[in-house]
Amino acid sequence: MPTLFISHGAPSLVLEHGAARDFLAHLASALPRPRAIVVASAHWLTRTPTVDSSARPATIHDFSGFPAELEEMRYPAAGSPELAREIAALLQADGLGCTLAERGLDHGAWSPLILIYPLADIPVLQLSLQPSLGPAHHLRLGRCLARLPATGVLVLGSGGATHNLGTLSMGRQTAPAWATEFDAWLADAATRGDADALVDYQRQAPHASQNHPTPEHYLPLLVALGAAGVGAHGRTLHRSMSYGTLSMATFAFSQ
Ligand code: ZN
Repeated sequence: MPTLFISHGAPSLVLEHGAARDFLAHLASALPRPRAIVVASAHWLTRTPTVDSSARPATIHDFSGFPAELEEMRYPAAGSPELAREIAALLQADGLGCTLAERGLDHGAWSPLILIYPLADIPVLQLSLQPSLGPAHHLRLGRCLARLPATGVLVLGSGGATHNLGTLSMGRQTAPAWATEFDAWLADAATRGDADALVDYQRQAPHASQNHPTPEHYLPLLVALGAAGVGAHGRTLHRSMSYGTLSMATFAFSQ
């Protein structure tokens, strides 16, 4: 089982027509069927690691200003309190600490999953991110999960390869160089599995702060890389741009 980093785009991804949506709608056929899915989403940020132990996670509509159709969508997958406790134990054994909470699925989790696994028949739970603890912490967080893929658990980092919401444009046809150069750097570093460069992206990547004014949409990539184990490398599964500057790149990581 590879691990995945998915760029989830706008909350309205599921309603849109385009290359990224089509890619996600066909992704399941390219993967072994997981027995459970752990999502590290850009939309659950806490001071210390927290795992959702809900038996029936609620669908959280953590956005506003989108069509009512989106507000009404539900992703009724079961949770997995047992796997939540297993993950908490793995993080605690590493010294990271971890608490359990009943929280539900934010759109970073359910909006790609409703395209990939529309039947919602695979248990899903979320693991929170800690942006204040920096990039290296998130690689370590992922590495705590590295035994899970071999047991059929899909570790999914859901964020954005680029994410500068102030620059989005409905009409823009061609992405600016600051976005394409970062996107290309990221695809290259991810493919090589260059963990040191990916952790140090704020210094090594071109236009890093312009593409990620805040880190939360980048950090899920490090969780996915870490969960594939030391020495993992990546494969680019998809690249496209939406709204002019929003990369929809998706990578799979494995040994
Ligand atoms: Zn997002």
